Amino acid sequence: MIISGKELSARLKAEMAEAVKSFPEKYGRVPHLVVILVGENPASVSYVTGKAKASAEVGIRNTTIRRPESISEAELLGLIAELNADPEMDGILVQLPLPKHIDESKVIEAIDKAKDVDGFHPLNVAALWQKQPCTLPCTPKGIIKMLKAAGVEIVGKRAVVIGRSNIVGLPVSKLLLDENATVTMAHSRTCNLAEVTRGAEILVVAIGRPKFVTADMVSDGAVVIDVGVNRDPETGKLCGDVDFAAIEPKASVITPVPGGVGPMTICCLMENTIECFLRSRK
Ligand code: NAP
Repeated sequence: MIISGKELSARLKAEMAEAVKSFPEKYGRVPHLVVILVGENPASVSYVTGKAKASAEVGIRNTTIRRPESISEAELLGLIAELNADPEMDGILVQLPLPKHIDESKVIEAIDKAKDVDGFHPLNVAALWQKQPCTLPCTPKGIIKMLKAAGVEIVGKRAVVIGRSNIVGLPVSKLLLDENATVTMAHSRTCNLAEVTRGAEILVVAIGRPKFVTADMVSDGAVVIDVGVNRDPETGKLCGDVDFAAIEPKASVITPVPGGVGPMTICCLMENTIECFLRSRK
């Protein structure tokens, strides 16, 4: 079974759009997401465009603020302070990566926790690890939604996550743990990685290396979630961290790239924006 993140996200966005229609009458306006784009990095430009398109589909107001690569850290922090103070802004997202002269962690910490739609603020991260209400990071949240939508039983399963980044590997491991999986976290220093991954009933791969996970690393019937977004060096086309063609016949459930985790990430960003809006109304 191939889980289409594209189809699932389309369904969820349509449901959100239906709910958002009633917001002007109920709350006086629709949620407002502001995205800050620094510089012209083509991947970032494309992500920001995708976020604007999804906002339009859901009926969320989207403002993209563009600033040149040369913006100083102080200027960027000043802009965030203004947006934090503006009651018309419900969600603030700074598209990463930022130029080298800007400290990303300072920028993330500067965003009001209540408007942190990415779920990257240290207070949101702490709340996640303490099982407190918080804004969940979009990609891990989307992965759990995909597993549930595909009817994958998570409780008690052996889950292996390759990658331990703050935005994917670590939080998705925590969410799987919260779903009562038995979680192993693997990384670049893991010994006998193939042996570890063959033990996985659920395998989540977030490395950033094209087709790194090969068929011999996956057991028959495994559920495989491919987070990677890479260019295939042979074809130049987008591909994941998993050798999809070789693993799809073995896996019970697998996600494609493109059209898998990516659309779910944007879908969860929309959901997070709506959640921030509704929380601020309470
Ligand atoms: P990252 O911060 O670069 O982290 C990569 C992780 O992979 C690190 O923990 C690293 O281990 C591990 N790793 C690298 N080489 C390895 C190896 N040979 N064996 C085992 N582990 C290895 O990357 P990220 O931000 O998590 O992103 C990972 C991928 O997901 C990228 O392709 C990115 O574009 C994609 N992504 C997609 C979405 C989406 O919505 N679809 C969202 C976010 C990211 P160490 O910690 O030991 O260095």
